[in-house]
Amino acid sequence: MINVCDIQVMKPLLAEHGFHFSKAKGQNFLIARWVPENIAVESGVDSSAGVLEIGPGIGPLTQQLALRAGKVCAVELDKRLAPILKQTVGEFDNLEIIWDDVLNLDIAGLVAEKFPGLRPMACANLPYYITSPILTALLEAECFDAVTVMVQKEVAQRIAAKPGSADYSAFTVFCQYYAEPEILFDVPAHCFLPQPKVTSAVITLRTRKNIPWDIADQDIFFRTVRASFAMRRKKLANGLAAGFSELGKSGAAEVIRRSGLDENVRGETLSIPQFAALSNEIVKWRMEP
Ligand code: SAM
Repeated sequence: MINVCDIQVMKPLLAEHGFHFSKAKGQNFLIARWVPENIAVESGVDSSAGVLEIGPGIGPLTQQLALRAGKVCAVELDKRLAPILKQTVGEFDNLEIIWDDVLNLDIAGLVAEKFPGLRPMACANLPYYITSPILTALLEAECFDAVTVMVQKEVAQRIAAKPGSADYSAFTVFCQYYAEPEILFDVPAHCFLPQPKVTSAVITLRTRKNIPWDIADQDIFFRTVRASFAMRRKKLANGLAAGFSELGKSGAAEVIRRSGLDENVRGETLSIPQFAALSNEIVKWRMEP
């Protein structure tokens, strides 16, 4: 197996194919072999797993996944990588490469078609320019056992943040609604070519089999969350009144009171069960004559 993380191997390989990195496609390739090895090991991929990889690049993580998984489907946008991947991962008969933009795919449909009888997992060193849309699509597909991805460290901290902390955001609540996150390890910038400006981190999101909160209307729940974070450091009632014009200031104060929350509470301190209670009161309030 070609060690694609060895810079003495990678540089001539890229040169042979006249390949130049595309910043626009978020191409920072791994040059430290311990990183893809650790991602594959710590994600828990084994022969019972069907793994969707996003952005194989020249295949460092793809190799490690294909060595362990029942099947790997790797989705890559940049067709210039085809002849290189043929050399680096062509030997694996449990690997299929799909040449497409991952955001164009019906992920749940693809997983059902490609991984029958296998435990679906997602693994990736993500292109950072579309981290949030890709994570959103992976979690909303509601078909993976776990999603293990490398992202910017600050994004990992945001995903795993606790209520009331500076990193806690609407995206935190979105991710933690679908999954339980755990930051696995940091990856310094010198592990990539070209080097990104930021430190990265690998995070695993173990998806919830059942949503453990009683949520009357999922759309209203997420609208409530977005409205609650829209005016940070202001009272929750202001954010809710702006996000739900039908409530107005007095309606907003009333649903906050009915949810058992303090009238001076700030949205960014609420836990998911508190957002659930609040959104359920908004649903009820909207149905009142
Ligand atoms: N996995 C490789 C590694 O770790 O060295 C490459 C990771 S690089 C950060 C991100 C990869 O995602 C690139 O190969 C890039 O071409 C690919 N990519 C970017 N946007 C994509 C998209 N919308 N759909 C699928 N792949 C994409």
